Amino acid sequence: MQIRDVVIIGAGPSGLFCAAHLPKNKRVLLLEKSSISASKLLMSAQGRGNLTNTLLHPLSDYQTSHPAFVAKIFQSYTVRDFLAFLTAHDIAFHEEDNGRILLTSRKVSLFRDFLLHQVSEQGGEILYHQDFQRLEKTKQGYFILHTLSDVFYAKQVVLATGSPSFPQLGSSEIALQVAKDFQLTFIPFYPALVGVETEKNLSFLAGSSVVGKGALFHRNTLVYQQVWPVLFTHWGLSGPVIFNSTLAMQGLPPEQFTFKLSLPKAAITKRLLAYLGFSAPKLAHYTLTTKLHRLRPLTEAKVCGGGICGEQLTEQLEVKTVPGLFITGECLDVTGKTGGYNLQRCWTSGKVVAQALIANS
Ligand SMILES: Cc1cc2nc3c(=O)[nH]c(=O)nc-3n(C[C@H](O)[C@H](O)[C@H](O)COP(=O)(O)OP(=O)(O)OC[C@H]3O[C@@H](n4cnc5c(N)ncnc54)[C@H](O)[C@@H]3O)c2cc1C
Repeated sequence: MQIRDVVIIGAGPSGLFCAAHLPKNKRVLLLEKSSISASKLLMSAQGRGNLTNTLLHPLSDYQTSHPAFVAKIFQSYTVRDFLAFLTAHDIAFHEEDNGRILLTSRKVSLFRDFLLHQVSEQGGEILYHQDFQRLEKTKQGYFILHTLSDVFYAKQVVLATGSPSFPQLGSSEIALQVAKDFQLTFIPFYPALVGVETEKNLSFLAGSSVVGKGALFHRNTLVYQQVWPVLFTHWGLSGPVIFNSTLAMQGLPPEQFTFKLSLPKAAITKRLLAYLGFSAPKLAHYTLTTKLHRLRPLTEAKVCGGGICGEQLTEQLEVKTVPGLFITGECLDVTGKTGGYNLQRCWTSGKVVAQALIANS
């Protein structure tokens, strides 16, 4: 029986970043369900890689049940630390609108390959097609990991299996099964950063995009507002403001919400005028109001809100009641807005756990 020092379940961005920072003298194994690693990272910004955001404020940019805990974790590994990491490895990046940091190469696949190279340089091993099913902790203090085809043993385990968004990439809800097995509190995953179908039929405007002030109301209370593009589709609304609005809904039924889009004169297009039945641009200002109907399916959600709650975790992201078990990335009840916030959460949590694993040895 070979007991590894660390087994990381899931070779997504948080698992890879953690493994890339572990020392060579640790026997590290990553178990990955699919045939490739970090498939969601590869889709970031249509393959260009929006890896972080310079405007990040942990207290206002993440949906979580434990804001103070999140703020503390982000102090340990900041956006500045991650940018210094990129610079130290000669990875060119630049800033675009709204603080978004993108890879200058426009190829996030190169960054994924760089992470894989770092993991292998540090002696980490990745096994693909290992569909993790169940975790046990023995009285002797080590862990037994059951996959569909094998059994593995570890002194310490990192749960980095993400959330069930984009299930077509092989993502899973297994993190919540582990939470149930170890009696950890969690918020059920709910789709976020996703388009929304509207009560009002906006299909006439499908394909057009406008920049205005989007405001989301829960019943009559304003819960989110932002000026950023809104995209009309044949089923409703999409684009950054809508994505962030769906995160602010916190899993509540969309029918409880109303969306208002305030457009200045300059944003009122001929198409919008035609939709409103006006022939001449007489309007100085227009506010489109619609009740929301339902979210687009999980297959279109960029992330899931919810996850394992911070109250049972140390500031090193170790489960207080299960020493040696760590949680990273989207398994955590820490979900960011669109624009690089979710990947930064992966870098931060992956690095925080790597530091704890090094300190524990
Ligand atoms: C289309 C799209 C675009 C996005 N764009 C951006 C962006 O531009 N910027 C940004 O910040 N965020 C973006 N995100 C969100 C970001 O990619 C995720 O938040 C991030 O990938 C989460 O990382 P993770 O390591 O926690 O989990 P994941 O990336 O989900 O990785 C988890 C890994 O675990 C594996 N796994 C799951 N279950 C099991 C199991 N049972 N056994 C073994 N392995 C398992 C999965 O196959 C996967 O490889 C985007 C997401 C999508 C879907």
